[in-house]
Amino acid sequence: MKILIIEDEIKIATAIRDCLVSASYQADVAHTGDAGIEFLTEQKYDAVILDWMLPGCDGIGVLEWLRHRGAKPPVLLLTAKDSVEDRVTGLDSGADDYLVKPFAFAELLARLRALTRRTPAIPHLQLQTADLTLDLNTRVVSRAKAEIILTPREFDLLAFLLRHAGEIVSRSMIAQDVWRETNRSTPLDNVIDVHVTRLRRKVDSGHATRLIHTVRGVGFYCGESTPAVPS
Ligand code: CA
Repeated sequence: MKILIIEDEIKIATAIRDCLVSASYQADVAHTGDAGIEFLTEQKYDAVILDWMLPGCDGIGVLEWLRHRGAKPPVLLLTAKDSVEDRVTGLDSGADDYLVKPFAFAELLARLRALTRRTPAIPHLQLQTADLTLDLNTRVVSRAKAEIILTPREFDLLAFLLRHAGEIVSRSMIAQDVWRETNRSTPLDNVIDVHVTRLRRKVDSGHATRLIHTVRGVGFYCGESTPAVPS
């Protein structure tokens, strides 16, 4: 993760950079607002630590420049100014957070972590093995582009097998995940076998390659090849 520090006080800038580097960030330092803008024009940063009071173009000027540029990295504004008005001015100018000098480096790092915390990636909504696909959003299942109609339980079972494609799964794993059955005294093995048989008929019949395999004495396996059975 790459951070730009724009701070004219060399001692503070260096201390921040050392702190970031020791926390495994990459950091560049600009000592004026104009130099900072040059860095921002030439390189992509994950966040900017921006001092408000800078010679020439000040922090607010840098924020204004960033705002007119469209996509901007999150900005943590540093300042000795600590009135409510100043905070409002800073945040209104487009700073994402605000830290009053003097500050503890632990707090700087915590703010930076919060600013750079990315929105979680959208989970992969489609599961696939060979020509079999299952869409968790639309709940459409198809093999070789032909739709397969499944009951809700068969769908959940297939989703589980596809999530573990290439691995052998046991009946108790299926009971826990698909049937939400944690009480081991309720044997579901026969029920699971019946469902797997039906599912296999829907998924594999008419296709040269079998995708759902029974591993004798162990469980099931989803994949193009026959699984290696542990001896
Ligand atoms: Ca300053």
